[in-house]
Amino acid sequence: MSDFTMTIAGAGVTAPQTFGVVNPATGAEHAQAPDCSPEQLEAAMSSAAEAFTEWRKDEQARRKALLAAADALFASAGDLAPVLTAEQGKSLQDATMEVMGTGVWLKYFAELELPREIVQDDANAFVEVVRRPMGVVAAIAPWNYPLLLAAWKLGPALLAGNTVVLKPSPYTPLATLKLGELLRGVLPPGVFNVISGGDALGAQMTAHPVPRKISFTGSVPTGKKVAAAAAPDLKRVTLELGGNDAAIVLEDADPAKVADRLFGAAFMNNGQVCSAIKRVYVPDALYGDMVEALAAKARSVKVGNGMDEGVEYGPIQNKPQFERVSELVADALSHGAKAAAGGKPIDGPGYFFQPTILADISDGTRIVDEEQFGPALPVVRYSDVEDAVARANGTPFGLGGSVWGTDLDRAAEVAGRLECGSAWVNTHLALAPNLPFGGFKWSGIGVENGPWGVYGFTEVQVVYRAKG
Ligand code: NAD
Repeated sequence: MSDFTMTIAGAGVTAPQTFGVVNPATGAEHAQAPDCSPEQLEAAMSSAAEAFTEWRKDEQARRKALLAAADALFASAGDLAPVLTAEQGKSLQDATMEVMGTGVWLKYFAELELPREIVQDDANAFVEVVRRPMGVVAAIAPWNYPLLLAAWKLGPALLAGNTVVLKPSPYTPLATLKLGELLRGVLPPGVFNVISGGDALGAQMTAHPVPRKISFTGSVPTGKKVAAAAAPDLKRVTLELGGNDAAIVLEDADPAKVADRLFGAAFMNNGQVCSAIKRVYVPDALYGDMVEALAAKARSVKVGNGMDEGVEYGPIQNKPQFERVSELVADALSHGAKAAAGGKPIDGPGYFFQPTILADISDGTRIVDEEQFGPALPVVRYSDVEDAVARANGTPFGLGGSVWGTDLDRAAEVAGRLECGSAWVNTHLALAPNLPFGGFKWSGIGVENGPWGVYGFTEVQVVYRAKG
């Protein structure tokens, strides 16, 4: 029997079956999560549909409830963070930051003022464009930031007047189930339902007739399945998918100055960030120095169980992902790349991998062309910046990208030519609740955050009052 319960219609619910959750730092199962039955999915959907009728009516009540939800998170970081570390692997410090960030995002949406849009007010008519909630939102989250990425959906969906059924990844259901428990007394019953189960439960949610909107964060292959499942019912979708972000270092950059920041944005959450730097392009003149500066940093960081004091980077979150990163690094090495740092798994239990910097590598190698989503960074040499931009854009992904140099105008001009949703200069992964986040091409459809994120949970309605 699981210690964790789902939240359906405001109540704690166990399931007839459970599934095991592995602690990636040990490789051992450490908890059981409820495996939502078809009847329980029905109950979650109908409770969300029922709650929608009242919840959509009062914006001020919604803001108040969202603020209370944010406060509940701020007050519970000490309880939630260890649960997150044990299932996800990240350090306790990072887990605490994720819980606090989840609160920050909810607070932002609670306080976001959306402008009233009056498009005509004359002798003939008073015309407003207003945003109406859609109904029930099916929210599906991945395993890298289970709480934070849920808040990117929950905050705007609830502010707009929708109700939500949320499913976390089967690899990391526990902190999200706790979030459901935490908010039971804070949000009215049925407004926020949390169910857990395997991938099949996600597919059942997207095929279900009740949700009018699917908000999905995860991989490109699953995103395509979600889009296909949404099509017959013309459900609205927001898809936040994978990335293969390039960082282009310009000739006037100082490797000693930028290496730590490049490393931080590539290895954050152990490289398991959709818009982490996944490949770095470096001009010939700086190549040796940049590889060495990145490698020195990689050799200096502390990897270990996220619960241990001083650990900066935990394990890779799950076994298939660990095997994938191991395979991509081995493939690069077998094709002539050099491991300037790391290059192999770390012996012992758990899914630990050495922070790895790969040099003497180019496009056409799998780890450059594909999303590695792990602690291994290829550093690619270039001679002509136009060619570097073409190679950065030569991918079906388009999530983020960055350009690094001392001439800011020049760097911004190059960044503007990157085909991606976020183009950064001398930084990467600069994310905030008020900035729209989304991808070009296969990296997604729609955006999250800011007013744009709220609009994604609404239908546009013209209210036309004729005069005279
Ligand atoms: P995934 O696609 O395997 O799973 C994501 C979620 O979808 C899980 O909850 C899973 O159970 C569910 N799911 C699986 N099959 C489904 C189906 N057929 N229908 C509906 N739901 C289904 O992704 P993952 O491995 O958990 O996450 C890693 C990926 O997520 C990476 O590619 C990463 O780049 C991406 N990601 C993107 C963003 C972003 O905002 N763009 C953020 C974080 C992660």
